[in-house]
Amino acid sequence: MVLSHGVSGSDESVHSTFRMPEQSIPKEAAYQIINDELMLDGNPRLNLASFVTTWMEPECDKLIQASVNKNYVDMDEYPVTTELQNRCVNMIAHLFNAPLGDSETAVGVGTVGSSEAIMLAGLAFKRRWQNKMKAAGKPCDKPNIVTGANVQVCWEKFARYFEVELKEVKLSDGYYVMDPAKAVDMVDENTICVAAILGSTLNGEFEDVKLLNDLLTKKNAETGWDTPIHVDAASGGFIAPFLYPELEWDFRLPLVKSINVSGHKYGLVYAGIGWRTCPRSSSSTSTTSAPTSPPSPSTSPRGYKNIMENCQENAMVLKQGLEKTGRFNIVSKDNGVPLVAFSLKDNSRHNEFEISDFLRRFGWIVPAYTMPPDAQHVTVLRVVIREDFSRTLAERLVLDIEKVLHELDALPARVANGDAVALATAAANEREMEKQREVISLWKRAVLAKKKTNGVC
Ligand SMILES: *Cc1c(COP(=O)(O)O)cnc(C)c1O
Repeated sequence: MVLSHGVSGSDESVHSTFRMPEQSIPKEAAYQIINDELMLDGNPRLNLASFVTTWMEPECDKLIQASVNKNYVDMDEYPVTTELQNRCVNMIAHLFNAPLGDSETAVGVGTVGSSEAIMLAGLAFKRRWQNKMKAAGKPCDKPNIVTGANVQVCWEKFARYFEVELKEVKLSDGYYVMDPAKAVDMVDENTICVAAILGSTLNGEFEDVKLLNDLLTKKNAETGWDTPIHVDAASGGFIAPFLYPELEWDFRLPLVKSINVSGHKYGLVYAGIGWRTCPRSSSSTSTTSAPTSPPSPSTSPRGYKNIMENCQENAMVLKQGLEKTGRFNIVSKDNGVPLVAFSLKDNSRHNEFEISDFLRRFGWIVPAYTMPPDAQHVTVLRVVIREDFSRTLAERLVLDIEKVLHELDALPARVANGDAVALATAAANEREMEKQREVISLWKRAVLAKKKTNGVC
């Protein structure tokens, strides 16, 4: 959730945008006003920053529209929707090779996304660990969880909200995922689980869950602990089963006790659905309210495979186009999540943030970010290849990146001497302060005009 902090041009508009209007207006006019404002949002399909689905078949749109008014937590009233959720859980558990007999059903739950699924999984691991420690008469007030420094931000939130220490394995130059050996070294008796990522958010790379499983099995045998593994397969969970069915990362590995996956990423449905699955007989509860549809309703395993292969091919088109310019290092892997992460070979005159800024003018949203510790000196640009990013668009993006490079080459270096990044940050901070000062003064004037003296914040 983003906090709203808009700045308006006058006291009058601060008033009219932040308060419920006194008078009603015709619904057609209200529609027009809101629709016009929304036009200023970027085009979601050109947002190459996001893994979240931005296009679905019209039949899916129809199904979503038809069920958007159902409050689906009300399971008694909407038993069929509940039944559909349960079928999805089972399809996904089978996809992840849960060892289920013919008459067994899988344990799992639909959530609003992987973030919620991860909160539930983390809590279950914490509870399990606490129960075990209590039974052994040991202290259970200092739980920790081991992850790579490349974890998605929701793990940091989990750690903070639920008071679990986050022990992060640092990255290193050229190695941007969790090193399983270092992770296992960090495990102690208070570790509730090790969280591995199938498809690092930063560069799409799959972590080596099998090696982690093997090393942890050995450590568990030596110490008598039974530290389990959770796999955050938010983006890779719908890639690996179709493109790399032989890769062992899921319930085939005995220590993998829980997996989350985002339906709204490569599950090919719009924002609002994630899943958490367990191999069997583990329980969890859910609070879900989302206009959802199953993993894409008309899509069979073959259909998924075709779509994922297509994404992978388009990622290659983009990667090769970028390599041809001779200006970039590619930091993503060919066999991970279909995305291309790349950095400039020489960023002394112009950097990746400037490329990102310039691409905006062509309509593309391509994020630039620095890597987490200890690889923070590396900046990358990242393009996520989704189902609706066609080969034509990939070729077009390469052309536009070439144009941006030419434009930047013709410009003087951003700062002739000195630390360009520090100066840019200082300027951005100054702009942010200026904006805040402006908002405060607008509010003050608006409030004084009403002669109110309290209740202002
Ligand atoms: C996207 C992502 C998440 C969060 O998933 P949401 O479905 O957006 O809540 C967690 N972990 C990884 C690795 C991700 O890529």
